[in-house]
Amino acid sequence: MFCVAAALSILQTGVGLSYFISCICEQETRAAVFGGAQFLLMLGLAILLFYLQATGFFTAGAGSSVLILGLLFAFGLLGGLTWPIGSNHKALAGTQGLVVGQVTRVDERDIVFARNRTIRPGSEQYKTYYELRPENEQFDAARRKRGGPLGQPGTIDKPKDRANVAAAMACLSIPIHLSPSEKYNPPPHPEFHEQRVEMLPETAGSRVKGYALSLGADLVGITEINPFWIYSKRGEIFSENWDEWGQPIELNHKYAVVFATQMAVDLVGTAPHTPTTIASMANYARGAFIATQLAAYIANLGYSATANHLRHYDAVLVPLAVDAGLGETGRLGYLMTKEFGPRVRLGAVTTDLPLIPDQPLDLGVADFCRICKKCANCCPSNSIPMDDPKEVNGTLRWKLNAETCFDYWGKVGTDCNICMRVCPWSHANTFPHKLIRALITRNKHARRLFKIMDDIFYGQKPKTKPAPRWAEYEY
Ligand code: SF4
Ligand code: SF4
Repeated sequence: MFCVAAALSILQTGVGLSYFISCICEQETRAAVFGGAQFLLMLGLAILLFYLQATGFFTAGAGSSVLILGLLFAFGLLGGLTWPIGSNHKALAGTQGLVVGQVTRVDERDIVFARNRTIRPGSEQYKTYYELRPENEQFDAARRKRGGPLGQPGTIDKPKDRANVAAAMACLSIPIHLSPSEKYNPPPHPEFHEQRVEMLPETAGSRVKGYALSLGADLVGITEINPFWIYSKRGEIFSENWDEWGQPIELNHKYAVVFATQMAVDLVGTAPHTPTTIASMANYARGAFIATQLAAYIANLGYSATANHLRHYDAVLVPLAVDAGLGETGRLGYLMTKEFGPRVRLGAVTTDLPLIPDQPLDLGVADFCRICKKCANCCPSNSIPMDDPKEVNGTLRWKLNAETCFDYWGKVGTDCNICMRVCPWSHANTFPHKLIRALITRNKHARRLFKIMDDIFYGQKPKTKPAPRWAEYEY
């Protein structure tokens, strides 16, 4: 019995130590203090256990009872936190599991970015759109006066953080070149014009996934496209293709290869300051780079493919990613992945290349988000709902208020990202956090326990962290 108790105690102390080290590496001062105290407590218990064994305490009647009770408590706790309880069968059905009513395809012209980036006052499109949606005209006019989506970039940083604004804007240099149609719908390389490369769907799937990962994607999955998630009409115009604006989007592709790239945890930690926007923009650039090459690869195989990235979207990517098994939708409306939580950006390639779809995941996100609410509590514009999921366009889910969120971006001059920074799923993907996410995924008691621990270790409103040295600036 002592050997079992000793093994458990050493294991627990080891996990405590790994958590403490992880907090130091992540520069999480508060968590490191609590993590250090927790580790010392565990170490003390382990030393006490060995000391009592050396004194022969556990061989006496009372001592062996203490040992048995201690073991029962430890196994009870272990079982209570690891036994698979609280699975969500709806999550395993992907976005189909959320459908409760009539779903209509989203018109891309209604997306807050499309309205404010694309429509120019005095243009034909302006007249057409605001005749259709007069309720949006006043808001959008006020936003246009303020500037682009980020208003005056870097406003929140005093003095204005020009070097980091420059770094964020530099990321646009990649996607901007990839906006013409021949880039996102690439023709095959001349060498591959004649002959299609034949492959079984399993082989094709493993090749395209492997290729995406080799190009820098961190997660990749495949889904059969649910037509609900294809935009009904084109709303974003980036390469003077005005004849497409307002036209129906017809997509003949059956599959989507969806991928996620991880945003740097140290840059996101500075949210809502400018370095966090570098993380966002850098991953849009990575997404454009990966999606364009992946589409060209599939074109060379002899199939049709369209890259979806910052400068061209046919589809709403979060639901496609859910169906492709990359994660679930969280309270903040973003994709929540098991590995990085919401700290990702998405890209995709739609194609007629025959592939085998992946299965959606049950990560316990719906239950965890129901009890957590940290993003909603920390959102400065109250854009994240506090209550339970509601019916939105025929689906039961949380919906971020994109209008008020977008207005806050304009005020601070960054893409904010506070919700992403504070989310307990966003911590670095180190061993102790992986262990915690695995327990949260399996067990509903673990969800409750680790929500409380996250509040204790990181605070109910975690503070902004300093930027890495190369992106340092004055607050
Ligand atoms: S902060 Fe909490 S409620 Fe918000 S998305 Fe993350 S886990 Fe869900
Ligand atoms: S990005 Fe900022 S303003 Fe927008 S929902 Fe997240 S916390 Fe709120």
